[in-house]
Amino acid sequence: MEFLQPDNLREAFEMRASHPGAAPICGGTDIMVELNFDHRRPEYVLDLTRVPELAEWSRENGGFRVGAGVSYTRIIEELGESLPGLAMASRTVGSPQIRNRGTVGGNLGTASPAGDGLPPLYASDAEVEVASLEGTRRIPVAEFITGPKRNALGDGELITAFHIPEADGPQQYSKIGTRNAMVIAVCAFGLALHPEKGKVGACIGSAAPTPVRTKEAEEFIEGVISESDLWQTRREISGSALRRFGDMVEMSAKPISDVRGTAAYRTRAVGVLARRTLSWAWDEYRGGSR
Ligand SMILES: Cc1cc2nc3c(=O)[nH]c(=O)nc-3n(C[C@H](O)[C@H](O)[C@H](O)COP(=O)(O)OP(=O)(O)OC[C@H]3O[C@@H](n4cnc5c(N)ncnc54)[C@H](O)[C@@H]3O)c2cc1C
Repeated sequence: MEFLQPDNLREAFEMRASHPGAAPICGGTDIMVELNFDHRRPEYVLDLTRVPELAEWSRENGGFRVGAGVSYTRIIEELGESLPGLAMASRTVGSPQIRNRGTVGGNLGTASPAGDGLPPLYASDAEVEVASLEGTRRIPVAEFITGPKRNALGDGELITAFHIPEADGPQQYSKIGTRNAMVIAVCAFGLALHPEKGKVGACIGSAAPTPVRTKEAEEFIEGVISESDLWQTRREISGSALRRFGDMVEMSAKPISDVRGTAAYRTRAVGVLARRTLSWAWDEYRGGSR
């Protein structure tokens, strides 16, 4: 196995183009596991850790462009105020060592339905930026992830960044695992309130082949909130509406049973997470922050 080490993005694209089977490596926290267990033996590994362009983030119109190589630790420390949902999800990833190395770019590359970085991207309608020698394109995250461990990355392309709006309301992320750290999610739920737009964005993690937006539940709760003028009055959402929201989220889940949990448990649990995260986010909204 040969190790390719580009020093900048241009070189990375050139090496990617001249070595089509080369496996990109960023934090290495997924791919090294695969190599160690001999699940994969690429002829070339393309080390992206020396590419400075991938490790940068910047502000752009009302949001952020975050390089694919920005670690979870940096997202928490540098972007936690502006992207609270993604920061909450990042805090649940692995351990400090994994968060120091692991990246959202790698989470997108792996495209696991249990990837904790993904539901916050879905809930905020983020876009994935991919590029090659041919040029750059932006893909809505829900179209980028095409199936379990599958994504829309084309030949010669690398994930260069993701684009995400700054939080315009409270956000939440909650994950169920067998313990508090170093667990793959049994199921998870990300939620973002957008008071100015009268919108609620939400996404289930680890309870379907890909993360899943919960459109019907979102429309239901948006209707409840606007009909009762709750965005303006900031009164409580009724318990029955919260429960109905949870029930509708359960209907969007399409989980399997595996060693981490049964399909029935996952379905019920995402409903509970949905109800709880909405009530936490709504309490924060009522408290007047953001
Ligand atoms: C002990 C342990 C605990 C973990 N806990 C969690 C957890 O709680 N939650 C969670 O979501 N994940 C967890 N993971 C998995 C992993 O840390 C994450 O998926 C992380 O986001 C991967 O990022 P990375 O930069 O390390 O990816 P890498 O391992 O470098 O790459 C992952 C995949 O993406 C591809 N890739 C990477 N960068 C690019 C790029 N720029 N362009 C194109 N393809 C690219 C690689 O080729 C590879 O296929 C854990 C892993 C370990 C070992």
